[in-house]
Amino acid sequence: MNYQFKNCAELVTLCKQHKLPISQIAARREMELFKKSRANVRNSMKRVRNVMREAIRKGVRSTSKSTYGLSGGDAAKTFRGLRRMGKLLHSKVAVRAMAYALATNEQNACMERIVAFPTAGGSGVIPGVLFSTAEHMKSSKRRLLNAMFTASAIGVAILEHDGTFSAAKAGCQAEVGTATAMAAAGVTEMRGGTPEQCVNAAALALKNMLGLACDPLGGLVEVPCVKRNALAAMTAIGASDLSLLGVESFVPMDEVLQAMMSIASNMPEGIRETALGGLAVTPTGCALCRKMQGKPPSPPPSQGGNLSLPKNKNLSL
Ligand code: SF4
Repeated sequence: MNYQFKNCAELVTLCKQHKLPISQIAARREMELFKKSRANVRNSMKRVRNVMREAIRKGVRSTSKSTYGLSGGDAAKTFRGLRRMGKLLHSKVAVRAMAYALATNEQNACMERIVAFPTAGGSGVIPGVLFSTAEHMKSSKRRLLNAMFTASAIGVAILEHDGTFSAAKAGCQAEVGTATAMAAAGVTEMRGGTPEQCVNAAALALKNMLGLACDPLGGLVEVPCVKRNALAAMTAIGASDLSLLGVESFVPMDEVLQAMMSIASNMPEGIRETALGGLAVTPTGCALCRKMQGKPPSPPPSQGGNLSLPKNKNLSL
């Protein structure tokens, strides 16, 4: 086994050994582990890319609201905003990234097809950042696909290093937070960054998301989830910029991940996807619950708790 890695440090070492970017190590790992051809692995990722593109295409045009009306139409508003950039502070690539992230998560809220990359709740960050930057840079399809492989490799390293994408275990830091780290690494490779710069961008991004609560109103993956993906895309772009400018994370990525899991073990149950804490129990959140279920959310069953976090084996991209 020549292309397997258990954390980001090992991933970077493999890149150096083989003189390959992260994307190529990720593809070869998949080929080696699952005995697939190169064409097979790339075609699978192309299918993922096509679903992402379609969700964006539909999402930026849609004005439909979700069933309870919590989300919908903001992607179209943001996308239209690209025509009057003079009023905005962010660059076009950043505003477009927000529009695409909103589009993907709004499609998810409307039960349309998206890619849970790495999860449905955090599905907007990676396509938002990568598709917007690819358009901006006029990147080839191949380059975009490679950036997706790089993002995937960070996801694999997170799970292999005893991390998680589960908000029930570790809050939103593990959903939107990990997606932000994956997007930051992917876009950094797309922009010509070295493997070290990609992993450093992931570390900068994840550090900024540590401690993030999962507290969705009514247990629906809409508020704060949809807009959180748009703003997380800004973190990923910022982390990539900082990394390419030579700003280094003092704490390496693998240790940032350990910190995420340590925070998870101290996280109250009410902010771990139970919809029993944080924004979910604000007056607005309680009013929504009464509308949906005829009663406000019950108090959290317990606060804190020890988590048993299983080790993942043979993770496929
Ligand atoms: S708040 Fe919870 S449900 Fe919403 S995106 Fe974050 S982890 Fe997912």
